[in-house]
Amino acid sequence: MSTTKQIYLDNASTTAVRPEVLDAMLPYFTQEFGNPSSIYPLGQRASDAVAAARATIAELIGAKPREVYFTSGGSEADNWAIKGFARANAAKGRHLITSAVEHHAVLHTCEALEREGFEVTYLPVDAGGRVSPADFEAAIRPDTTLASVMFANNEIGTLQPIAELAKIAHEHGVAFHTDAVQAFGHEPIDVDALGIDMMSASAHKLYGPKGVGLLYVRRGVKLDNLIDGGQQERGHRATTENVPGIVGFAKAAELAFAEREAEHARQESIRDHAIERISAEIPHARLNGSHEHRLANNVNFSFEFIEGEGMLLQLAARGICVSSGSACTSGSLDPSHVLLAIGLPHEIAHGSLRMTLGRDTTLEDVDFAIDSLKTTLANLRAMSPLYEDYKQGRVESIIDNEKKQK
Ligand SMILES: *Cc1c(COP(=O)(O)O)cnc(C)c1O
Repeated sequence: MSTTKQIYLDNASTTAVRPEVLDAMLPYFTQEFGNPSSIYPLGQRASDAVAAARATIAELIGAKPREVYFTSGGSEADNWAIKGFARANAAKGRHLITSAVEHHAVLHTCEALEREGFEVTYLPVDAGGRVSPADFEAAIRPDTTLASVMFANNEIGTLQPIAELAKIAHEHGVAFHTDAVQAFGHEPIDVDALGIDMMSASAHKLYGPKGVGLLYVRRGVKLDNLIDGGQQERGHRATTENVPGIVGFAKAAELAFAEREAEHARQESIRDHAIERISAEIPHARLNGSHEHRLANNVNFSFEFIEGEGMLLQLAARGICVSSGSACTSGSLDPSHVLLAIGLPHEIAHGSLRMTLGRDTTLEDVDFAIDSLKTTLANLRAMSPLYEDYKQGRVESIIDNEKKQK
């Protein structure tokens, strides 16, 4: 075993279960193991625990308990919202709207629906990663039934103008779903104030367990089932409830919402310190995404004249856990669809780094990571033929040219 200290800066990928969450879950694995569908007390106590968890989460987002459905995660919630709604409302129309920067759980779901004969508009985004409300309105057709635009992007942290988009959707009789997996517990969310009809969230992104998520479905919204079977979730989502997971999710959400403002301010100041240091101390670097409309925990930069895989490996050897964009993209050679959508050329998108802060992240952690990053980039550039070409004046720096134009 190596004794290198580990610095975890990949909280957008997943988070550790908090001790309070684990404590709340533990009894439901052992003595309180009952099936919530059973009528004897052991089963009823499990059923009560699920009902209490549902009520807790509903209150946090301004919903009614019966509008909250538990799922196996964010991906299932996205699949269910989009496939379930599209199919249930196909008689009204077969056109959907989403954005080019969605998580694959939304994009691949939309592609699957295209194979069923639905039509999908993938809205472009601006340089900061935001959808334009005017583009959104222009994309709405008489046969559009649903729009799905994410609350916050998992790679570059960009926040979308959710209330504005939902309002436009409703003016045209279109339902509005948002993948809020990255925003839930981080940004203020009130489903009524924002006009959200359906919303996906996932426990493991906010210090809850993996394998449990939720779909909020506004009363009156018609949705086909995705998982048929028993009568769980009022007959809308079969499978015996993941009782410990659901209890843990509610506990994690309760804590995250209670600590949200203080934690948001703390992480935002570390984030801005990181952005300032990298911008000032590392040449040929660009911040990806919007600075103004950004999650408090997201730092995403591209570096020229290096190759991202080498950077991640060298940082990993120094105990630093970061990613090149999204866990789904790492391991593949295709550059991230999000970075391409904000207009990055392939060669720049390839040299990208995402650091996502969490509740355990300190300023010292981030400073150590940035010091390591500086060394790593200097090493990689020293070996890079492209950087040699740049130094000899044979090629220009795309990032520096872009900055000059601003
Ligand atoms: C992580 C993530 C998901 C998938 O959630 P799972 O619970 O892992 O299925 C969906 N959307 C976004 C934006 C995410 O960050």
